[in-house]
Amino acid sequence: MNRGTNHNSKLHQKILSGKRITPQEAITLFQWDILDLGRAGDARRRAVFPKEEVGFIVDRIINFTNVCEAGCTFCAFHARANLIEPYELTLEEIYKKIDELVNLGGTQVMLQGGLHPDYTLEKYITMIRSVKEQFPEICLHSFSPSEIVYIARKNGMTIFEIVKTLKEAGLDSMPGASDLLVDRIRKQVSPKKTSVEEWRAVMQALYENNMKSSATMTYGMGETNEEKIEHLNVIREVQDETGIIRAFIPWSFSPARTRMDDMLPATGIDYLRIVAIARIFLDNIIFFQAGWLTEGLKLAQLALAMGANDMGGVLMEEVVVKATGIKTETNAGEIIEIIKNAGKIPVQRDSDYKIIKSI
Ligand code: SF4
Repeated sequence: MNRGTNHNSKLHQKILSGKRITPQEAITLFQWDILDLGRAGDARRRAVFPKEEVGFIVDRIINFTNVCEAGCTFCAFHARANLIEPYELTLEEIYKKIDELVNLGGTQVMLQGGLHPDYTLEKYITMIRSVKEQFPEICLHSFSPSEIVYIARKNGMTIFEIVKTLKEAGLDSMPGASDLLVDRIRKQVSPKKTSVEEWRAVMQALYENNMKSSATMTYGMGETNEEKIEHLNVIREVQDETGIIRAFIPWSFSPARTRMDDMLPATGIDYLRIVAIARIFLDNIIFFQAGWLTEGLKLAQLALAMGANDMGGVLMEEVVVKATGIKTETNAGEIIEIIKNAGKIPVQRDSDYKIIKSI
């Protein structure tokens, strides 16, 4: 495999000139030397975000239930994986967790559950309303496209109507929770979650309701390089159409303790390659989060030199990734040190990527 330098290639010149590259060109980047690729990724980061600031947000994920009908093979969190007893948090338990976050200066809550067969639309409305009543200053960046499609189906309502209803209850924005936007893989690992078309429909509904979102990428589930680019291409198209994607967040699938535990996990180089290729390809997204949660703080720090420009959240009490056996704890102090040590300027930001304070 040729991994030589590519400094003089036409594609390298095209990337440095800031021009959009095609999916076919993106596939050839998998053959590039990792340092060349990283430098090109960083150059494209500077083209859309010339500052050396790296943001982070003080937030909390609250996994309010692990009861989920979907039973995705890559998930160790849902109750039927038999690793965590089925549970549901009460509203009082949710308030207590948000209170702890607010006391730490936190600004964002990600309420995340599963496809719970007994949860009604009314239950979601009550959860959102009551949280917003108790904590009006907190940004609720919560739920997922799969939950929206599931609720819409159960209630005989359109995706647009569900998004509108949740927004009226107080929902501020919704994570893109994209997994891998390739139907061949989705049919294998998560057939009960949204199809690619349904995911796109939720993003369109968020756009029509004037709400923001994000896009993620879970790779290492047996997809080809062509399918990795297919995923990125869906995101680029949706962002061209809507402009609602505030950030892109890639992470590798952790097979340990899932029903796919015979697979080898993706490596650190695979991760850095994805960060750089995605940064080059997704020319319409400004913020790229370095995935400390799945890749560890040290690898996330390296990603800051290859196209990433945000460290995401401190994510108090994450449970979903933790279920795969990965250590998932950090704090603002540790993230600030990682950013400074990378030669960057740490900034605490809000959910809209506006700076709350420079550190
Ligand atoms: S990934 Fe989400 S939808 Fe799939 S089983 Fe886990 S909790 Fe349910």
